[in-house]
Amino acid sequence: MEETILLGTSDAQLKIAAQALKEGKVVGIPTETVYGLAADATNEEAVRKVFAAKGRPGDNPLIVHLADFSQAEQYTSYIPPLAKKLAQAFCPGPLTMVMPKNDRIPMATSGGLDTVGIRVPSHPVMHRLLELSGLAIAAPSANRSGYPSPTTARHVMDDMTGKIFGVIDGGACEFGVESTVISFDSETVVRILRPGCVTRDMLLPYCEDVIIDKAILSEVAAGEKVASPGMKYKHYSPKANVVLVEGSAEALKKFLQDKGETSCYALLYAQQDDFPCKVITYGTDSSAQAHLVFQCLRELDDLGAGTVYVQAPSKEGVGLAVYNRLIRAAGFEVIRL
Ligand code: AMP
Ligand code: MG
Repeated sequence: MEETILLGTSDAQLKIAAQALKEGKVVGIPTETVYGLAADATNEEAVRKVFAAKGRPGDNPLIVHLADFSQAEQYTSYIPPLAKKLAQAFCPGPLTMVMPKNDRIPMATSGGLDTVGIRVPSHPVMHRLLELSGLAIAAPSANRSGYPSPTTARHVMDDMTGKIFGVIDGGACEFGVESTVISFDSETVVRILRPGCVTRDMLLPYCEDVIIDKAILSEVAAGEKVASPGMKYKHYSPKANVVLVEGSAEALKKFLQDKGETSCYALLYAQQDDFPCKVITYGTDSSAQAHLVFQCLRELDDLGAGTVYVQAPSKEGVGLAVYNRLIRAAGFEVIRL
């Protein structure tokens, strides 16, 4: 077990992190989406350490982060013209584009696929680290595989202490959910493989169509082939048993009263008077909910929650990203009231 150091965001500290990455070590890093577990994307041995630290299945690919989209040419064999247009509009930012990879990206990084997801993060600390190291940085979310993603350095420490070189504390993440992942169905049509803060409506002006992959809202059958390998695994789940509730807080209140349930928790948009069980809240609009959803799931574990009833978010705009995470956290257990 190695000692995991907590680093600040000064240039001197980021140089320590950059050097560690160049030596094939793994560092927890802040991004504008969630915290990531960074390693040199071209170094197979370093990448394997990331999979080991997370307990991540080897066929679940890592996203490769670049300082500038122009560097994508160095790691891909083809860049669709539409990708260049989208990069102008959304890079840097929370958009990952899946493109054919070249030999500089080892199969270990791409989970055995011949494609690679490329993203240019906007977070100033991550950007500086990319600049200082000169690397393409592979970075999945910095949680133990299957557990809610980390949005603070403390969350990363909770999951990764003793397993990685260090964690850079860059404060809480701005968006709170992972990037939107898209692939290209054709030269003009894109497919959302994972919803995030770059929404379908934001992409539509640049495309003939934007397809929302069916795996985003429904369970993948065992053995079914999926466009995005992450979709087939248990994901975002706290220890608590999460139940997604389609209905109002009022309806949930009545449901719990009728059942006589008082020992559970409820995760609601806002506090309610005289609710039958303990309540924590995750906000009334989709951006606030995205920002808080993982933090709340982790907090519920800290509170020792057994069962948590979650007031389902809207599926509109950024809400789709929040819904996608919560329905997986709930293992697709949904009640409609
Ligand atoms: P995470 O690293 O935890 O943010 O998860 C990244 C997710 O992005 C993976 O689970 C995949 O679902 C998706 N992804 C990354 N690279 C690819 C790729 N080459 N093809 C399809 N999906 C990808
Ligand atoms: Mg993840």
